[in-house]
Amino acid sequence: MYTALRLQRKLRQRLKSGEAEIVVVTPEPYMTYQPFLPEAAAGSISPRHVVVPLRRVLKHCTIVIGEAERIDHAKRTATVTTLATGEDGTGAVEIPYDEVVIAPGSVSRTLPVPGLADFGIGFKTVEEAIGLRNHVIEQMDIASATRDPAIRDAALTFVFVGGGYAGVEALAELEDMARYTSRYYHNIKPTDLRWILVEATGRILPEVGEAMGKYAVRELRGRNIDVRLDTRLDSCEARTAVLSDGSRFPTRTLVWTAGVKPAPLLAATDLPLTERGRLRCTAALRVDGVEHAWAAGDAAAVPDLTSSEPGRETAPNAQHAVRQAKVLADNILATLAGRPAKDYRHSYAGSVASLGLHKGVAHVYGRKLKGYPAWLMHRVYHLSRVPTFNRKARVLAEWTLAGLFKREIVSLGSLEHPRAEFALAAGGHAHLRPGSEGNGARPGGNPPEDDDGPPKTSG
Ligand SMILES: Cc1cc2nc3c(=O)[nH]c(=O)nc-3n(C[C@H](O)[C@H](O)[C@H](O)COP(=O)(O)OP(=O)(O)OC[C@H]3O[C@@H](n4cnc5c(N)ncnc54)[C@H](O)[C@@H]3O)c2cc1C
Repeated sequence: MYTALRLQRKLRQRLKSGEAEIVVVTPEPYMTYQPFLPEAAAGSISPRHVVVPLRRVLKHCTIVIGEAERIDHAKRTATVTTLATGEDGTGAVEIPYDEVVIAPGSVSRTLPVPGLADFGIGFKTVEEAIGLRNHVIEQMDIASATRDPAIRDAALTFVFVGGGYAGVEALAELEDMARYTSRYYHNIKPTDLRWILVEATGRILPEVGEAMGKYAVRELRGRNIDVRLDTRLDSCEARTAVLSDGSRFPTRTLVWTAGVKPAPLLAATDLPLTERGRLRCTAALRVDGVEHAWAAGDAAAVPDLTSSEPGRETAPNAQHAVRQAKVLADNILATLAGRPAKDYRHSYAGSVASLGLHKGVAHVYGRKLKGYPAWLMHRVYHLSRVPTFNRKARVLAEWTLAGLFKREIVSLGSLEHPRAEFALAAGGHAHLRPGSEGNGARPGGNPPEDDDGPPKTSG
């Protein structure tokens, strides 16, 4: 989005005259500001405001809703699967191009842990964040309604695997939200909720440095969150998380945030990849040794010119992705005009992370902050970064209103199954909301059906 935005601004006249065309291929009609996902899960920001509608900001571009399946750079074509099914039944179209920008980001990196594919949920999309929020509140409803202690314990046990940004922020925000929500349940105390963070290495939040990472561990443990370092998830079959330290936790919630890997599209190109599967790029963001192909963000292995360590690549984070996008757009324009391209160079400024409402850690430009000041800095920083004035204003308004009124504690899980009520009324088979088990959670409940863990989609 940022590359297209800059190209659109600088090529305005040529786009209007038809001399140039920018085609943006995207599976969703919006860009997701991922650093706000944990706050969306906690209900501090509504889901619509963590995304930016592409058709509105990229008015002079052609937006194609679909997924690039293959890029044949030798032929300068991208094969794109769109929503419209064609005569061949696939909906695939071939889009020819002169220059290609490849920035599909990354996907969750899973390991062959038994049960994970059936039972886990990631935390990279707005659907996952909102689905998880609904799921957590629904587990509290189940726990409150059941008389079976085993069901209750499993419902109130939440396991997160991976102690990076996504895992720590998601867990911390959801725990904060659930603790607050528990005051509205007559039979759930905050201490009944069990939150477990499993991290394979000896530290969490490497982005904020060692000292602040240790502080984050202390802060979370002080809130009764069970942080297990140097521990791995061995399996999660039959809804039981088994850890490498031998402990077992019956649970209905397993969130997997243990790293990312490059988007699968990269393997379906004729372009050079690194051992880790990222596109091998030059510092000018050109795919190495290839004309007319460019890349940025999580998908691109870009040499980090500010590092003294040879061979080091820029880390996969928003800080680099957004800055690279702008340099990339300028380099395309420079190359087309016969001018030399510039190298991308940005020394990492540090990081901020939220640990729930009014709690955080930050390590920015050598300064370490914790608690309320770090949380405030987190909010100010991300407010300044979220794209468009419209979204900044809406997010700020929501934060302000949340300070005046009470926190939202509602779960709209049934949005994920909009036909359920009607199907029931019409005498057909209604689907239970995910998480319900016919154990009294839903009055007049339907027969139990298999629950495949946390929801994967949301309305
Ligand atoms: C919960 C969470 C919190 C984070 N917090 C921070 C933070 O505080 N600070 C920070 O610096 N970073 C943070 N990050 C990391 C940051 O969000 C990513 O590094 C950044 O979004 C990468 O940008 P990108 O443009 O490369 O990829 P993305 O933002 O992932 O965008 C890639 C886009 O390409 C689309 N796409 C994928 N495959 C295809 C295809 N085949 N065809 C067409 N389109 C495709 C995807 O749908 C997506 O819209 C966080 C990440 C998460 C998940």
